[in-house]
Amino acid sequence: MVARVIPVDPFDLVIFGGTGDLARRKIVPGLYRRFRDGQMPPEARIIAAARSEIDRGAFRQFAAEAVEEFVPQDRRDARSISDFLDRLEYVKVDIHGSEGWPELAALIRPDVVRAFYFSVAPGLFGDLARRLHAHDIADGDCRVVVEKPFGNDLATARALNATLAEHFSEGQVYRIDHYLGKETVQNLMAVRFANILFEPLWNAQYVDHVQITVAETVGVAGRGAYYDEAGAMRDMVQNHLMQLLCLIAMEPPFRFEPDAVRDEKLKVIRALDPVEPRDIVRGQYRAGNGCASYAEDVGNDDSLTESFIALRVHVANWRWKGTPFYLRTGKRLRARASEIAVTFREPPHSIFGEGEGWKENVLVIRLQPNEGMKLRVMIKEPGPGGMRLKDVPLDMSFAEALGEHGADIPDAYERLIMDVIRGNQTLFMRGDEVEAAWAWTDPVVAEWQAREDRPEPYDAGSSGPEDALMLMHRDGRRWREISP
Ligand code: NAD
Repeated sequence: MVARVIPVDPFDLVIFGGTGDLARRKIVPGLYRRFRDGQMPPEARIIAAARSEIDRGAFRQFAAEAVEEFVPQDRRDARSISDFLDRLEYVKVDIHGSEGWPELAALIRPDVVRAFYFSVAPGLFGDLARRLHAHDIADGDCRVVVEKPFGNDLATARALNATLAEHFSEGQVYRIDHYLGKETVQNLMAVRFANILFEPLWNAQYVDHVQITVAETVGVAGRGAYYDEAGAMRDMVQNHLMQLLCLIAMEPPFRFEPDAVRDEKLKVIRALDPVEPRDIVRGQYRAGNGCASYAEDVGNDDSLTESFIALRVHVANWRWKGTPFYLRTGKRLRARASEIAVTFREPPHSIFGEGEGWKENVLVIRLQPNEGMKLRVMIKEPGPGGMRLKDVPLDMSFAEALGEHGADIPDAYERLIMDVIRGNQTLFMRGDEVEAAWAWTDPVVAEWQAREDRPEPYDAGSSGPEDALMLMHRDGRRWREISP
């Protein structure tokens, strides 16, 4: 199957923080792949702006190395890398000072799409926005892209939104949650809304419960200072898991358009009940399996921050009354695996009697690794021996289902950056969504902070704390295995 690539309009994309880690690992390799696929017109230009003391040649070297390191060998070639590098510029800019701004202003063309990627610490957004305007670089047509973390509570998120709103309209702001750029996550919407099969069953009458798991094997070393302030709830649940929950729970939008989709997501967040302390399990990994403990990784022996969290959440509306959503995410778990599992209820009456091997239908949407979907259905076990039931997966691995193209699933960043250039905000978070998510998160965090709740230790390489198992067991359910 040949992928259909629709070229975007000519653009100038300025990456503030273009020499940083995110640019190296995600933005630059992602742009190269879009270039190689023919999605960028010849007039496209990428301008890195940062405070690094380098020139254009050194930045191109940086970009060449990033492509080599983060794009698989069979997806790159010397000719297209060289052509791609020709599109790159570098300007040394000081976001706090006046250095570099006139040079940057002179580079930017007024008659192409202009996008500014704020790949710098959020504390710099205000100055950055002000200087873009002071130097007449940004106008009402340009777009700005901002990265997580979008605030660390409601007050800081509001302040950030207000800072951006001083200079840009909401229609110009693209808040990235890269989970929304994942192919499987978009497929979740296709499966729900482009098929008649699932939607009639997509409610509390037929869905027993939903599990959302984002498990990582890595610890927090390297970003300990940030993480110890945030913890799993603020680093992962408030944004990524919340977005997945919204896509599962939302009503069908009337159209696949930015505000139609985001309105429906916002309604889900607003419908979330406050979480009871008994429905939360917090954990912190201890040393073991050759790994340092969380406390050692962050250099704080007294840390009360959670590196794991499991929650039971209720969406209080007609559709979902009585169907719990179980969320869990953590570091140093047994495998890297992200998935959503929708477990359906038993048929109302079994004609086969008890104990014939019946299991629930489960729709598993796998985000990583091995993106794809599986639907567990019951069939008769082949052969003689009476009517014994057996569960088999109807399996749609993307790599297999889509042939060669499936093996080349675009990285979330590629898709999202091209959406910015196209001016499509559907897969970006709106300001009110982010604020609503914080409004739900803040009291939960405040409650455990007030009683100095200590997370339960768990072994590195395990499935998390024991109590997380209990969270499900007491409801007569169990977590799915965390497996790669
Ligand atoms: P980084 O520290 O690696 O890079 C920071 C960049 O900002 C550098 O290019 C630096 O030159 C530039 N910079 C810093 N101060 C400046 C100033 N005064 N003037 C001009 N340029 C300045 O950071 P990063 O890891 O690339 O992260 C960038 C943003 O993306 C942050 O907001 C971060 O939270 C977010 N983010 C990063 C990742 C990741 O994987 N690295 C993931 C999600 C979100």
